[in-house]
Amino acid sequence: DHGLSEADPEVRAIINKEKERQFKSLELIASENFTSRAVMEAVGSCLTNKYSEGLPGKRYYGGNEYIDELEILCQKRALAAFHLDENKWGVNVQPLSGSPANFEVYTAILNPHDRIMGLDLPHGGHLSHGFMTAKRRVSGTSIYFESMPYRLDESTGLVDYDMLEKTATLFRPKLIICGASAYPRDFDYPRMRKIADAVGAFLMMDMAHISGLVAASVVADPFEYCDIVTTTTHKSLRGPRGGMIFFKKDPVLGVDLESAINNAVFPGLQGGPHNHTIGGLAVCLQHAQSPEFKAYQNQVVSNCRALARRLVELGYALVSGGSDNHLVLVDLRPLVSYHLYTLNSFCLLYINEFLLQQGIDGARVEKILDMASITLNKNSVPGDKSALVPGGIRIGSPAMTTRGFTEKEFTAIADFIHEGVQITIEAKGLASGSKVQEFLKFVSSPDFPLRDKMSN
Ligand code: PLP
Repeated sequence: DHGLSEADPEVRAIINKEKERQFKSLELIASENFTSRAVMEAVGSCLTNKYSEGLPGKRYYGGNEYIDELEILCQKRALAAFHLDENKWGVNVQPLSGSPANFEVYTAILNPHDRIMGLDLPHGGHLSHGFMTAKRRVSGTSIYFESMPYRLDESTGLVDYDMLEKTATLFRPKLIICGASAYPRDFDYPRMRKIADAVGAFLMMDMAHISGLVAASVVADPFEYCDIVTTTTHKSLRGPRGGMIFFKKDPVLGVDLESAINNAVFPGLQGGPHNHTIGGLAVCLQHAQSPEFKAYQNQVVSNCRALARRLVELGYALVSGGSDNHLVLVDLRPLVSYHLYTLNSFCLLYINEFLLQQGIDGARVEKILDMASITLNKNSVPGDKSALVPGGIRIGSPAMTTRGFTEKEFTAIADFIHEGVQITIEAKGLASGSKVQEFLKFVSSPDFPLRDKMSN
């Protein structure tokens, strides 16, 4: 039995290239992180060989003595990491990822075509919360359930709770979903609980983006108000790729969530759990209870604030004006109109065409920064006309905080991004970005944090 280098040098070479890319770039995608060597060891272990359909003690295959031990340990650590009482909350650690976890909840508590309300995707929500366009039901969630998304108040960049309340009163959803992929503020859980109660809906939080921050208690606690909480495990939580569903043990609206959700996961939508992921998750959840993890999450938030502060100093507009969590959403459109206005006020009438011609949109800024190994993503911002050419970029702090960056480096990151935006606007060659050049030199140096700590 050979190691990867001998058995398959082609795949090894691709992994090496990806490792180098990860190591050399400034990783600012808000949903990404660098998990630990210990987690990767568990994920790369013999746990991947085992079938274990069912739950601990109730499996459809033999030989699951140790897998049972592992899954029970993972469940216990999950409840402890989020400060939950085992008598009141249960958890399923088998969901293969965030989108399946959400769909499993929907199939557990809803009938086909029941109504749901989640944050609209162009306003920061996730596809799996029921995204649809005027022409097409894009997500499976909107195909199998009737979705009426709620939105942000465009003047404040905050969730428009008044409108949500009014719409919910008319639409009468069976499920209201909190949580987002690109929302820099906390949700108002007490308000959402009130709205859900008034219309007799379940309240679910998808805390995928902020679960690390929730575990460290640096943002509001959704468990105080929600009936069900789902999460991915690989974002701010810094675990392996996977998902979890937390549910109240007491029946809610006459539904036994524990059996409904466990049955929806298996046999409803999944087969054998990915035990190697559950192993890695158990490792991550142990670490999530440590003082070091809490310090890390505090640093994630401080770094994001430093980044936001500097971007505002540089003249950028941020959706909602700032951030309470791990991400900022930069609205590039005021910059575009200002820039075009200085060129020719007539341009303002044709802003979309000029936007494309001038190349000052989220997509082009993303591309230019990518060329300089600064990885972030284009993002729609409230009021955008086109999802293909969105007017914003999303920037997150978890990954580079893992690599040891503090407020000082995040302030410098804002300057690098500014340089990239200037290059995009002026359509100058990349080589003229002196700060970008400076940065490229920095990441190639042996002093770049954690160079020696990246395994695999
Ligand atoms: N929920 C939210 C809020 C997300 O941001 C994401 C992914 O970005 C998901 C769910 C889906 O997770 P996955 O990509 O693991 O299916």
